[in-house]
Amino acid sequence: MSKTDVTVLGLGSMGHALAAAFLANGHRVTVWNRTPGKGDDLVAQGAIRAQGPKEAVQASPVVVACVLDYPTLHGVLDGSWDALAGRTLINLTNGTPAQARETAKLHDGEYVDGGIMAVPPMIGGPSAFVLYSGSRAAFERYEDILGELGATHFLGEDAGMAALIDLALLSGMYGMFGGVAHSVALAASGGLDPAEFTTSLLAPWLVAMTGVLNSITDDSPADMQVIAFGNIVAASNDQGVDPELLSHLTTPFRQMIGPDAAGLTLEEMLNR
Ligand code: NDP
Repeated sequence: MSKTDVTVLGLGSMGHALAAAFLANGHRVTVWNRTPGKGDDLVAQGAIRAQGPKEAVQASPVVVACVLDYPTLHGVLDGSWDALAGRTLINLTNGTPAQARETAKLHDGEYVDGGIMAVPPMIGGPSAFVLYSGSRAAFERYEDILGELGATHFLGEDAGMAALIDLALLSGMYGMFGGVAHSVALAASGGLDPAEFTTSLLAPWLVAMTGVLNSITDDSPADMQVIAFGNIVAASNDQGVDPELLSHLTTPFRQMIGPDAAGLTLEEMLNR
């Protein structure tokens, strides 16, 4: 069976990885990037370089876009919306749910929005997954192709859902990264080597904690956690480590404790 032709708009780190995965899977891949040189290796492997976005869009029934952000995407497609009409636009550019819904309205054809939960070297590998929402018909028709990038999760016909859940997952990740930065600073204030601390203690601890995400307060009551949390803030102050980031966790901790804690400051919660 002949493979579906695919166009990839944007050959930054991620777009390049997407195009390479489609090429590796035997598709006729047309590519366009603002800076043409970024596609040289792909062209050497058989990709077709389009001279502009319009030519790129006209080359395939499926157009995968992955550029910096939505304003960039709209700039790239300005003048090509007519050519895109009737084709399937799969937009893997990171943005907000509102931007995804707005883009769906601009496109006269099937629109699927996506959130890539992977870094470029993971594309096509076993741990990559991508969230999708928008046209179910298009998603189902092209699910096999999308599966070449990573596992697929379809989240419904609201084009904004993939962006929402992408940002929810990124919130968990960036919250963890912020916590890691604070954790390392606190350990370093006691003289520990940051890299050694991270490898031997912090990483195993975080991995172990992912096992209890669904039961965060079952065995460790929230009231108890708030006291530990206050201790972190106090010790950070004592060690000269700015507690600013963790001070902002007061609100989620309040939510964890329940409605009777709403409106309380951290100090009031600790003294309840
Ligand atoms: P890069 O910075 O590597 O690439 C950005 C892309 O946008 C390039 O193709 C660049 O073209 C293009 N671009 C930027 N400004 C313009 C412009 N004014 N006009 C035309 N094209 C422009 O980013 P990534 O490839 O890493 O990311 C692309 C998308 O993928 C982002 O939305 C990102 O959030 C998402 N993503 C990235 C991940 C990652 O780990 N890299 C992970 C998950 C999602 P040029 O080469 O000419 O500059």
